[in-house]
Parts: sequence; structure tokens; C-alpha cells
Amino acid sequence: MQKTRGLTYLFIAHDLSMIKHISDRVGVMYLGSLVEFATSGSLYKNPLHPYTQALLSAIPIPDPNEEKEKKRIPIDGEIPSPINPLPGCRFASRCKYAMEICNKEMPSLVEVYNQHFVACHMVKKS
Ligand code: SF4
Repeated sequence: MQKTRGLTYLFIAHDLSMIKHISDRVGVMYLGSLVEFATSGSLYKNPLHPYTQALLSAIPIPDPNEEKEKKRIPIDGEIPSPINPLPGCRFASRCKYAMEICNKEMPSLVEVYNQHFVACHMVKKS
């Protein structure tokens, strides 16, 4: 239908293992903010935002041996109120890389390389 009718689909889901197979481009949101946006291939091969990295590490691997060896990245800390978010990065209270600036300034979504955007003070444009 996409090809014959020229349609675009916006598919919203929590299951990143499935999204990989049906999406051309993927946007990852945290507390209502877009934190990473890239082509599917780029995002799954090289996730840049700490939240995306943690989400991808939680995807189960169908091979039990690989699954046993896999390192899952835990997300600790408190979820801030989405109604009255603190200034700065919305992921700061749960991010192990949080710096002083993270609690003061909301990072902008910047293109780090070809069609791969991320909102994180830690990631610099190459
Ligand atoms: S901006 Fe800071 S707190 Fe937010 S994801 Fe990046 S390093 Fe973590």
C-alpha cells in the first residue's frame, strides 16, 4: 500500500524489536521529547542516546547462549513528572552520564551524521 498509494505510516509502539523490521526511520521519545531520530539501520547499529542504548539492550535475543552473554543496561533513578518537568534534559535523573549542564539546559536535537539526530549534551557532531 505504501508503494501503490504513496502512503506514509506513523507507527507508535513500545516494542523496539518489531519496529526494526517495519520502519524506515525511527524516533525515540522520552517523557514527550524526541531524544533520537534516525534511519532504522543507523539507529539499531549505532544508538547514540543513553535511553535508546538502554532500550535496545533490553530486547531479548532468540538465541539462549547469546541472550545469556548479553549485557543489559539498567535504567535506575526516578521518573520525573511529565506534567511539570524539570529544566534541562528530561532523562537527567536516570542517566548515568548526567553532567551539570544536563540539569540546566535541554539539549537540542542535532544531526550528528547523515540523517542521524540526537538530543544529548554528551554527543558531539562529527
Ligand atoms: S543530555 Fe545529559 S542527562 Fe541527558 S541523556 Fe545526555 S548525558 Fe544523559
